[in-house]
Amino acid sequence: MRNSRILISGAGIAGQTLAYWLARQGFQPTIVERAASLRLGGQGVDVRERAIEVVERMGLMPQVRSAAADVLGMRFVDADGRGLGEVNIQKIKERNGSDEVEIMRGDLVRLLHDSNGDTVEYLFGESISTLEQDADGVTVEFERGGRRRFDLVVGADGLHSTVRRMAFGPEERFVHHLEHYFAFGDADPALGPDRWVTVYNTPGSMAGIYRSGAHPQAKAYLAFRSPRREFDPRDPAAARRALTEQFGRDPAWQVARLLESVLADDDMYFDALTQVRMPTWANGRVVLVGDAAHCASPVSGGGAELALTAAYRLADELAAADGDHEQAFARYERAQRPSVGRRQQIGPNLRLLIPRTRASIKIRNTLTRLPVLESLAGMERIMAPRNTEPLTTARTDTTPRKSPESVGCRA
Ligand SMILES: Cc1cc2nc3c(=O)[nH]c(=O)nc-3n(C[C@H](O)[C@H](O)[C@H](O)COP(=O)(O)OP(=O)(O)OC[C@H]3O[C@@H](n4cnc5c(N)ncnc54)[C@H](O)[C@@H]3O)c2cc1C
Repeated sequence: MRNSRILISGAGIAGQTLAYWLARQGFQPTIVERAASLRLGGQGVDVRERAIEVVERMGLMPQVRSAAADVLGMRFVDADGRGLGEVNIQKIKERNGSDEVEIMRGDLVRLLHDSNGDTVEYLFGESISTLEQDADGVTVEFERGGRRRFDLVVGADGLHSTVRRMAFGPEERFVHHLEHYFAFGDADPALGPDRWVTVYNTPGSMAGIYRSGAHPQAKAYLAFRSPRREFDPRDPAAARRALTEQFGRDPAWQVARLLESVLADDDMYFDALTQVRMPTWANGRVVLVGDAAHCASPVSGGGAELALTAAYRLADELAAADGDHEQAFARYERAQRPSVGRRQQIGPNLRLLIPRTRASIKIRNTLTRLPVLESLAGMERIMAPRNTEPLTTARTDTTPRKSPESVGCRA
């Protein structure tokens, strides 16, 4: 197999899924992860449409279903915690015959890690410091010292990808601000009812608690509108100041306690709501997958789906091209782009979650009390563009390559 030594930066959903499929197809993947251990933070992520197929082919769907977050839906409350409206997402899914599963991000990351076992080399607490590619490979230097040679390098290192910066240019060129900041952290489960996401809004801001049915603990989240990018998410002190300024004086509902929870969490997540849009995901022997290439933002509900399908398609195309990276990268990109385009159209999600005015909060709440909403939401789901392109592309060109049977993993 040509180009068999592949370095993947990032042990998230994209990086670990890619490593799984590469190892199954005879490549030798190494994952370098900046954190000292797996990053298990975050709330529920959706495994849906073609991503279900990827997880099924990995044999992990029973585990994913048994760890499902099992959240019923979202409830909107007033300053005294009284219910103003709710959306029962489970009912809508049942009505649509949907088989998608919501799972806590950390559970999925852990399941992927367990399934890789010792077929994948992991380097934790490490990051790439320089990349230098030539005609035959890529020389990589690591931050803690040491230099190694790989055939290909994949950036699966998320929204603020280091590989993207090194191989494609500064983040500002590709990252588009969606005018909001989001923060997540662990919370006291007593702050909200089991199996519901409870949300309190003021114009342009939201405080909420996420209670998964499968977990004793809960997640707090805080979000606010900010038309300009003004806070550096890599500066935890600035993040804490921004959140305190925004929510610190709000005596309503459980806002103060949710703020306290987020600020107390050492693995607090704080970031601008953004999308990554790039003209190409490959540069020579370097390629990007998942959020690094095409983050659609947490409000798209498509981050995990895109990470799983992108990783599968990249591994599949590399195997089908017998390691020919130029051909494989071009085919992977063509196959994955349509799904990304659809998920990056986030439509009214953000305005419904964080209405900008008191009047629009009222209208949203009133709508959620109308029985027609569930059938409207069902209609919307049925009519929404779905990512149904096959995972494996039709291969009609004449370049010789291995037959599907000989590469091992193609179900
Ligand atoms: C802690 C955390 C919490 C999240 N919470 C949510 C959530 O609640 N809801 C939601 O919709 N989405 C959330 N996301 C984003 C979501 O995981 C992605 O949209 C989606 O799953 C695609 O995953 P990914 O593997 O491409 O990127 P990510 O999940 O972001 O994983 C990237 C990985 O790369 C690692 N990394 C970063 N820089 C380097 C570097 N220089 N060297 C080596 N490794 C590096 C990171 O530590 C991380 O493990 C979260 C991401 C993270 C990291």
